[in-house]
Amino acid sequence: MKELSEIKKWDAEDPLARYRSHFVHGQEEIYMDGNSLGKLPLETKKKMEETLSNAWGKRLIRSWNEDWLELPLRLAAKYASLLNAAPEELLIGESTSVRLFQIVQALLQLKKYPLRLVTDSLNFPTDNYILEGLAEMHSKEAVYRIDYPDEINANLDHLKKAFEEKPGIYCLSLVSYKSAFLYPMKTINQWAAAHDSIIVWDLSHAVGAVAIDLKAAECKVALGCSYKYLNGGPGAPAFLYVTQELYPSLKNPIQGWFGHQSPFEFDPKYTPAEGIQRFAVGTPPVLSLQAMESGVDITLQAGIKNIRAKSIQQTELFIQLFKEKLKPLGFQLESPEDSQIRGSHVTLSHTESWRICQALLQGIPNGPVVIPDFRPPRFIRFGIAPLYTRFEEIYTVVHGLEQIVHSQSYLQFDQKKPTVT
Ligand SMILES: *Cc1c(COP(=O)(O)O)cnc(C)c1O
Repeated sequence: MKELSEIKKWDAEDPLARYRSHFVHGQEEIYMDGNSLGKLPLETKKKMEETLSNAWGKRLIRSWNEDWLELPLRLAAKYASLLNAAPEELLIGESTSVRLFQIVQALLQLKKYPLRLVTDSLNFPTDNYILEGLAEMHSKEAVYRIDYPDEINANLDHLKKAFEEKPGIYCLSLVSYKSAFLYPMKTINQWAAAHDSIIVWDLSHAVGAVAIDLKAAECKVALGCSYKYLNGGPGAPAFLYVTQELYPSLKNPIQGWFGHQSPFEFDPKYTPAEGIQRFAVGTPPVLSLQAMESGVDITLQAGIKNIRAKSIQQTELFIQLFKEKLKPLGFQLESPEDSQIRGSHVTLSHTESWRICQALLQGIPNGPVVIPDFRPPRFIRFGIAPLYTRFEEIYTVVHGLEQIVHSQSYLQFDQKKPTVT
């Protein structure tokens, strides 16, 4: 067992430790859900107050020209630099779900790829729902799901075979929301390219925690949300990436005025914007855009490679402590053990997962409240957000889980589940 004093030393020597003070923290609690909703940056609070009191409060309509029209472009450039893409290849706005619908429909209309929408059993439900809905509009049989033998890993042999036998438009999540399995992006993009296929990568659970280089990975289309590891705020606008070679040939299925070449000409005829801007729809959600800027700023400042290195160190510590302390108590690891194929959350299960999760939320015996999340039927996910998670917190959480099971304090909770877990 690692000594607590040694773990405290890691925090003391951690070059990213200072970023913790850039966020608002509740007292006496350990937040392990940054993979679902990231924390509020202090700077965001300031910016929002200034937007409300001045930009909206006083400058009103003038603010469009003073800042608001430029804001999504400024954000796009920051996301482009985080993901190694050109600023013209990034568009900020809408939700991941809406963007997925738009881009997949545009790819179907292009008729360049076989009419087949492929997903897999590790993908996030909204991705599957969107694909199923789109398939109904084209050909009900067009949707195909690759089912893997277990819920932790994508079986890459199955995936490779799928490209050979079922080419088409694929949608995969770079990091799986349940197990944190991390796909080898470049290899899979190459399989797709060799078999007349394209992949729409959903980066929601990876961006801000995993180093992503869209160019090096030969990515054509990607999207994701910014409210998880990028701390953009609840329901923050999504980002969409389309490679320069592709977007000129794509049509936006929702022809809104903000995707028009010159929206303020109020032209009766629709002419799409030249670049990726053509995928814009309506008026940008200014307050939400303002709220998402500091999150990406902090990430760029800290450096995604440093964040990834710390994430690996922290998830490895979690898994090592799990093996020593929790495995003998009936817990199972539901994430890959190899850091090369794991994102930044660690998922555990237990026959009493739900009630153990309730016990954590109530507070560990003589310790702080711990906030993980529960994903049915049995998964407890612990999100490690290297910008604010401390090594010591990981130790405290594992120790707390041990105490909860030893003392059977979870027995006082019932099995009923609320709406948002
Ligand atoms: C969180 C998440 C989403 C969320 O989509 P929204 O449209 O923003 O609600 C989508 N895909 C994945 C993989 C996610 O992890």
